[in-house]
Amino acid sequence: MRRSVESFNTKDAKEIRQLKPSPSKLIAAARNAGRRALDEAAGKALLAHYGVAVPKTAVVRGPDEVEEALKALKAPFVVKVISPDILHKSDAGGVRVRLTTTEEVRQAIRAMSGQAQIKSARVDGWLVEEMAAEGQELVVGGLRDPQFGPLVMVGLGGIFVEVLADVSFRICPIDRLDAEEMLDELKGAAILRGARGRKAASRDAIIDVLLKIGGENGLLMQHAQDIAEADINPLIVSETGAVAVDARFVIEAGGSAPSLSSKEGRGTRDAIAAFTPLFAPKTVAVIGASTKGTTFPNVFIRRIREFGFEGPIYPIHPSAAEIDGLPAYQSLADTPEPIDYAFIAIPAAQIPPLLSSARGRLRFAQVISSGFGEVEEGRELQDRLVEAARAGGARLIGPNCLGLYTPRGKITFAEISPKEVGGVGVISQSGGLGTDVIRRGLARGLKFSGLVTVGNCADVTPSDLLEFYFADAQTRVVGMYIETARDGRRLFEILRNARGSKPVVVLKGGRTKQGIAAAASHTGSLAGDDRVWVALSRETGCVLVDTVDEFVDTLLLFQMVTPRREHPTERVVLFGNGGGASVLATDYYARLGLEVSPFANDTIAELAALNLPPGTSITNPVDCPVGTLQQEEGRVAEKILDIIYSSGKPDALVMHLNMSAFVGRSKPEVLDNLVKAAMRVQEHYPGQAHFILVLRSDGDPPLEERKREFRASALALGVAVYDEIANAGHALAALQRFERFVHKRERLNGVNG
Ligand code: ADP
Ligand code: MG
Repeated sequence: MRRSVESFNTKDAKEIRQLKPSPSKLIAAARNAGRRALDEAAGKALLAHYGVAVPKTAVVRGPDEVEEALKALKAPFVVKVISPDILHKSDAGGVRVRLTTTEEVRQAIRAMSGQAQIKSARVDGWLVEEMAAEGQELVVGGLRDPQFGPLVMVGLGGIFVEVLADVSFRICPIDRLDAEEMLDELKGAAILRGARGRKAASRDAIIDVLLKIGGENGLLMQHAQDIAEADINPLIVSETGAVAVDARFVIEAGGSAPSLSSKEGRGTRDAIAAFTPLFAPKTVAVIGASTKGTTFPNVFIRRIREFGFEGPIYPIHPSAAEIDGLPAYQSLADTPEPIDYAFIAIPAAQIPPLLSSARGRLRFAQVISSGFGEVEEGRELQDRLVEAARAGGARLIGPNCLGLYTPRGKITFAEISPKEVGGVGVISQSGGLGTDVIRRGLARGLKFSGLVTVGNCADVTPSDLLEFYFADAQTRVVGMYIETARDGRRLFEILRNARGSKPVVVLKGGRTKQGIAAAASHTGSLAGDDRVWVALSRETGCVLVDTVDEFVDTLLLFQMVTPRREHPTERVVLFGNGGGASVLATDYYARLGLEVSPFANDTIAELAALNLPPGTSITNPVDCPVGTLQQEEGRVAEKILDIIYSSGKPDALVMHLNMSAFVGRSKPEVLDNLVKAAMRVQEHYPGQAHFILVLRSDGDPPLEERKREFRASALALGVAVYDEIANAGHALAALQRFERFVHKRERLNGVNG
């Protein structure tokens, strides 16, 4: 056994307990010794400093020091090897538990010294400690995410964490509610409550430790610059308390982690003032339009004119006098007026000089061109681009994007862009996807307050625009397509401080390992881990979706309905034609966490009293053959709906109509009558239930055409329309998640004062 670190002896161990070296001293000592991690004794001292219980511990250099060390400890004892070379002590045969006498402890040290792995390792000494009372073993961990800063993790020990990866993460700092939700999220949560004859683990004690590690003044926040990874494995939790019996802290080399402070908190007025020239520019410059009139910038000039932009458009061109009938200028410094927004699509290398020549006369430069940070050889050029924009006084959007669609400013890059100003604000890291969202959104009834494609986000990031949308009175809901959040910490802080004031729907690209590889080549940097995004969603109430369609569907619902903050959506009534479809939908909704449960008896009695024709099912799902729905031009349906609302009192009503069943059987007005009947009932019970319409078609062109018309009239009445019951379910489930989030938080804040 080599004794390489002289400083460890019983006296020092006592000092660790009695003098309580400060955390910074512990960390500095490890760094000075060239260590990447704190040893277990130092790790435990650090935990003790933050109020986490650790076993009473002594450090000995060998069997000779055992007797002295044990004087301060109570049996039973545990002995462990201390070595920077051994990560898993028990795997190396370096842990002995349940020892009762001095001789047993000495014997254990001698035996362990003989183990092969220990023989070949540097051994700093032996940790002798009291054995913790029995309990359940949990893991509490910490990790510094490069984008989001410190994360805290909890899971059940053993196979739960190692094999099943049953853990939950949160971005620090967490509050009590976050800690509770972390525990509830574990699949093994029931085990903590004492399943199958086991003793329960004190929930309060676990929450207390989580807050001491991951809370506002917790260890991970206080040492965010120093700690790369933390591992309390295990935390032994009994019915009454929790003890950290193993502790490992990996430290950042040289305290090199970037600081946590972000630009957040500049205030809403600032965001509005800063971004109004982008969303409603008074003057526009276009760079890259040619005299031949065929480039994308030429198209852009035509588009914004058609779209109704009436301010001056200044083409910038090195030699031409006129482009698309507009007088051209040689430089951004030569235009008659300063420029709010410049649309730039010229070869990448030409852009930095162009921008630096703006001399403070340009507010926003959107660089469409690629060849920057998304490819290795363009990184340096991207840095120069940012510097040039700053030197010229402009904020930069992009590069490597497609443009901007802002109906209020009458600017658009997209071929098809509705003129109406709506409440959906979108930020997209992909240009093509931005186009898809506009087009699909148009087909489904989305109305935008803005859509900005941000590409590589070299300067302006999704967080900046999110701040604007939160402050913008026009915007009701925000949609973000994100591949990389370089300023994840700031994104987290903005979302968290907003406390669900507006719903935010996040479509995250690169959540899987394969997806991350694709994202890396796309936007030029690595995407964060999926776990962080789930944590972000749980902590801030933003809703994660997986596909473009789900994105559009969810935004549509938030556009149309007002979330129920006091009473989150739980009970859903399905009403329509198609028995099998109703049954399948009931199962599907149950899986989404939406409850489609039978009505109470009095409601069923009221419905039965209507004497509906045979084949009508009235329990929820309410399933009516077309014949029933057609009766009295939809007035029977109105009576059914009235009973559902007045007596059944659902939180949401999904009316689904299989259109092919109506074809050839009825006058086309029937569907219209049905929708109108539903709207009349809805008006009688304001705010009682979210109403959603599903128009199902078999794809037959004439039917699709009618569906388009019905969709338009429903949208005009303020009703969200979906193609399938399942799609409506996903949107409703997203709405439910948001409502539950704000409900829980607002109720809690109400209670706290
Ligand atoms: P490692 O994880 O490096 O193998 P640990 O210090 O976690 O070593 O010890 C291994 C196991 O021994 C723990 O998971 C725990 O079950 C038990 N153990 C260790 N120290 C104590 C202690 N002080 N009290 C009770 N059990 C302990
Ligand atoms: Mg361990």
